Amino acid sequence: MNEGGIKIAVLSGKGGTGKTTVATNMARSLIKSGHRVHLVDLDVEEPNDHIFFDVKVDETEDVNLLIPVVDETKCILCGECSRVCQFGAIVTFSDKVRIFESLCHGCGACGMICPTSAISEKPRRIGEIKRGNGMNGELAFTMGLMDLGEKSGVPIIRKIKGELNEGEYDVVILDSPPGVSCSVVESIRRTDFAILVTEPTRFGLHDLSLACDLVKDMGIPAGIVVNRSEEEKDIIHEFSKRVGIPILMRIPFDRKIAELYSQGKLFVEELEGWYEKFNEIFSTIKGMIKCSR
Ligand code: SF4
Ligand code: SF4
Repeated sequence: MNEGGIKIAVLSGKGGTGKTTVATNMARSLIKSGHRVHLVDLDVEEPNDHIFFDVKVDETEDVNLLIPVVDETKCILCGECSRVCQFGAIVTFSDKVRIFESLCHGCGACGMICPTSAISEKPRRIGEIKRGNGMNGELAFTMGLMDLGEKSGVPIIRKIKGELNEGEYDVVILDSPPGVSCSVVESIRRTDFAILVTEPTRFGLHDLSLACDLVKDMGIPAGIVVNRSEEEKDIIHEFSKRVGIPILMRIPFDRKIAELYSQGKLFVEELEGWYEKFNEIFSTIKGMIKCSR
């Protein structure tokens, strides 16, 4: 079956709400129903989708930023590089130009503006990308991993997304970082749909409302999955009606589901009826995407 490479981002306003649970169990359910699935873990600070699929990594690639290097024999201390830098990463003193590597975003502007071509570039590693497969080749898998101490996963996420071959798959599931930071914006850019995972608490609602604002601003159709749900008529129900973003699914507050998660197991494989529920929400998502175009 070919759905034309539908890209679904799974996000949550904060960590620990069940984003990984939804992304992994959905990927497994869609494979079960015959779809070609690529699961992409963009939670680059703490990727863990691979644990659920016993992923075999075929390839690891470094991600580097190109940061400036100044040739002091050519530098005339004009200060143009410091003026153009938006991040305060290159500072011209009276006797030399100093570069603060951890602040540099590798944009290249300083090198372009330098009147004496005193600036060249060198790579600085910020993380890596791993590509492989799970379920004996049935699941295509990619994940980004940011090095400890790095501040932004955006370049890693951008690189992964730029190299995705969406045409090869029926569905690409992008497990986004938590929150509503620049990394999240990058991870959901140019996706067809966003699944917003939340829990029925006041904190969950607060973070859900931020995530809803983000997807609305970006014009991405979205639906909500309520994790650890105990009743239908909760605060998320009211919110969903008010903002016009439907609840796609409720995953109950169930000790068995929590136990399976802690053992690195997918609950769709152990509990009856969940493959069907995830495939139903996929049908709903396809319909919503169609209506939004
Ligand atoms: S722009 Fe070039 S010449 Fe001017 S201070 Fe920077 S490195 Fe030196
Ligand atoms: S590459 Fe961009 S961010 Fe880095 S120092 Fe140059 S202007 Fe600043």
